[in-house]
Amino acid sequence: IKKIGVLTSGGDAPGMNAAIRAVVRACSFYNVDCVGVYRGYQGLMEGDFEELNARSVRNIINKGGTFLKSARSMEFKTVEGRKRAYEQLTKNNIDALVVIGGDGTFTGGVYFSKEFDLPIVGIPATIDNDISGTDFTLGYDTALNTVVDAIDKIRDTASSHNRLFFIEVMGRDAGDIALNSGIGAGAEEILIPEEDEGVERMLESLRKSKMSGKLSSIIVVAEGEKSGKNIFQLAEYVEEHLEDYDIRVSVLGHIQRGGRPSCFDRVLASKLGVGAVEALLDGDSKVMIGLNHQHVVRVPLTVAINGEAKYDKELRRVADITSV
Ligand code: ATP
Repeated sequence: IKKIGVLTSGGDAPGMNAAIRAVVRACSFYNVDCVGVYRGYQGLMEGDFEELNARSVRNIINKGGTFLKSARSMEFKTVEGRKRAYEQLTKNNIDALVVIGGDGTFTGGVYFSKEFDLPIVGIPATIDNDISGTDFTLGYDTALNTVVDAIDKIRDTASSHNRLFFIEVMGRDAGDIALNSGIGAGAEEILIPEEDEGVERMLESLRKSKMSGKLSSIIVVAEGEKSGKNIFQLAEYVEEHLEDYDIRVSVLGHIQRGGRPSCFDRVLASKLGVGAVEALLDGDSKVMIGLNHQHVVRVPLTVAINGEAKYDKELRRVADITSV
């Protein structure tokens, strides 16, 4: 392998820049050329490329977002679109790709790699932490810290006014952000997509906590939770069924995707970026570089896409005990 292309695709996540940097520097270390592809698969089809060297990626390890930009491309989902992308790669002598993104990015990578026999390695990057085969995805730790920081601030106002706050956090169909930030920020209740315990359990818990002397409470709600009510309907429901609660709703939204990556995400990005280039140079393809109990591992992309969610039931137990 003489020239590796690197791109970021799908939802952006803090730490993507640090991963690009690590890929570029590893290429430099192993004397392989590196090309940055702008705007994910869309830029790949359009030949939106730039040669990168070790100095091109200075001062980006600490920046949120991705300087290569990200995009969602419908055209890449078609065979014609992928053919167009392959033509751009051959024209520019790029003979392998590192794709940084989530499960959609990996799915596209698997098709592309199979159709054109092109070596592709994936780096998991999404704040949702919803990829199998890796303990953590890039951006998750930063997002978690952003959420805890936001909830801490909301707690100040909640306790000043004896309020009950419903706080919606991201995570799509994964409850990792909700469960961990909920424990970390001392939430009263945490609603996650992996279990639907019903709103009655929440009402019961609020009644109990009121009797035990709690004056204000925080309920963390994962955006994908399965009660069938959105967060505003949940708040209304509680207002109807419990007396004397001054209820507020806060949807944290896109602040969760931004900001400087945490040190954990920078180190993870560096390990995975180096691991991705080394996997390609070893002749591996269609694998994701992940982290398993501190170790960098190579996991088939198909496993990363199709595997089981890794929701930690022990955390629910801890949350219940620590919120009595
Ligand atoms: P996130 O989890 O943060 O949303 P993602 O990588 O899952 O990230 P997607 O928008 O699902 O984000 O996928 C990124 C891109 O991957 C798509 O815009 C598309 O170009 C490509 N892609 C997704 N699914 C497929 C598919 N089935 N076939 C080919 N390409 C795909």
